[in-house]
Amino acid sequence: MQVFKFGGASVKDAESIRNVATIISKYKKDELLVVVSAIGKTTDKLVEITNLYTQQSGDAFAVLEGVKQSHLGLLNELFDDESHPIFDEIVNCFVEVEWTLEEEPQDAYDYLFDQIVSLGELISSKILAGYTAHMGIPTKWVDARDYIFTDNTYMEAKVDWEKTEDKIRRDLPFILDDNVIITQGFIGSTSENFTTTLGREGSDYSAAIFASCLNAEDITIWKDVPGVLNADPKWFDRTELIPELSYTDAIELTYYGATVIHPKTIKPLQNKKIVLNVRSFVDPESSGTKIKTTNQGLPIPSFIFKVNQVGIYIQPRDFSFIVEDNLSHIFNLFHTHRIKVNMMHNSAISFAVSIDNTGKNVDALLEELEQRYKVHVEKDLELITIRYFNQETIDRVLINKQIIRELKDSYTCQLLVKNCE
Ligand code: ASP
Ligand code: MG
Repeated sequence: MQVFKFGGASVKDAESIRNVATIISKYKKDELLVVVSAIGKTTDKLVEITNLYTQQSGDAFAVLEGVKQSHLGLLNELFDDESHPIFDEIVNCFVEVEWTLEEEPQDAYDYLFDQIVSLGELISSKILAGYTAHMGIPTKWVDARDYIFTDNTYMEAKVDWEKTEDKIRRDLPFILDDNVIITQGFIGSTSENFTTTLGREGSDYSAAIFASCLNAEDITIWKDVPGVLNADPKWFDRTELIPELSYTDAIELTYYGATVIHPKTIKPLQNKKIVLNVRSFVDPESSGTKIKTTNQGLPIPSFIFKVNQVGIYIQPRDFSFIVEDNLSHIFNLFHTHRIKVNMMHNSAISFAVSIDNTGKNVDALLEELEQRYKVHVEKDLELITIRYFNQETIDRVLINKQIIRELKDSYTCQLLVKNCE
């Protein structure tokens, strides 16, 4: 069997949804489970609604109404018959969030976030499933919350693999015998049946969870790019497609910030040796990239750019060594403030990191660090990672940049730089 994942861009409008249904129909004879993300930028809108609601500022209802109308508009384009049950189904999904917004916010932000933001995937999957069924594809819509079980770390829930695997294996193979399954990415549920989310952009990970539990032959992530490229075309004009990639290179690239696949996706697939294809929904006949077991290193150097970095340079006030107790204190603070370190380096009496500037939690972190250490902060930096670097590639990215910090091992070079244009 195989698993397909379609992201928000692949279902952004009626024409795109028709294209996705055409791709699905080509594979409908195979056993196929489809994971879909929220349509276009719906998740960002739902995050905005959560913020307006929890801060009780601005009109969360009006923004929700906008999201509703755009989804209903899409339905009008896809279904001629306005009495098709899908119209009511979608309206009903909104009702629950509307009820939430009517109450004063009592619960914790992270919990409310998951209850509201999960709406995006619920409605996109219903629309896609409604449409494929309408096109004559035997389709079964499945609620991922009945299968992916997690703890209650809202916004970043951890999967209970044992329970998840049990339930998926028990039910889904039978359904797959006669139907294409369409389900949601990004969401799961706690043992008390509360909705959770797996972290932003987590739909790839959902697809990997289903693939792993079902021992899929392969999984395909359909993208608006031809496959895994050696750099993001947003930053680089001469990008090249990488036809084949090892799990190790793939996990390293995503760890350093390549956004083509969610970093958590690779591990469950590697553990079961499930091939991961990254292919283009714009050009579905082309083969894209295959990620699998191979001893072949990357054929060409790859570049990963991360902007809006904060460089933090930490020194103990009393000239004491940066050793285990200081390091564990520092890492604890990063963990508490949910900050991920993108680059780190330590010496006898200093510790330097680069992190994403995610706003308030960074300010809170800095405040706490300053209580115990001398802290030097530099904002608006860029972090450039080159996998399989050589001097030429380094020179190429350093035009008009000043190096703040540089780290190299045999395969990877990280450069924290400042723009000096
Ligand atoms: N819709 C979710 C997000 O935007 C999950 C995903 O797209 O993978 O974060
Ligand atoms: Mg997405």
